[in-house]
Amino acid sequence: MTTDASDMCEVCSEAMDPDHSAFCSSCGRTFHLTWDTRLEIKDCGAFALDDQTLALYFTCVLCGGAPQEAGEQPS
Ligand SMILES: [Zn+2]
Ligand SMILES: [Zn+2]
Repeated sequence: MTTDASDMCEVCSEAMDPDHSAFCSSCGRTFHLTWDTRLEIKDCGAFALDDQTLALYFTCVLCGGAPQEAGEQPS
């Protein structure tokens, strides 16, 4: 039996689903992130595409990554 800290979201301290998690590119925290917007899983961060390198990166809410709300697109 192991109690690995990586099983916890480091943003909200709730249990992680390994299939829906990401590492923050800024602070390295593991946090909740789902790719499937059909799933009702909380996001504790956001992902974005770097215009220069076209690399996908993740940012937790603590580093300014706002969860994307379906249907609301701020201009
Ligand atoms: Zn979380
Ligand atoms: Zn972070």
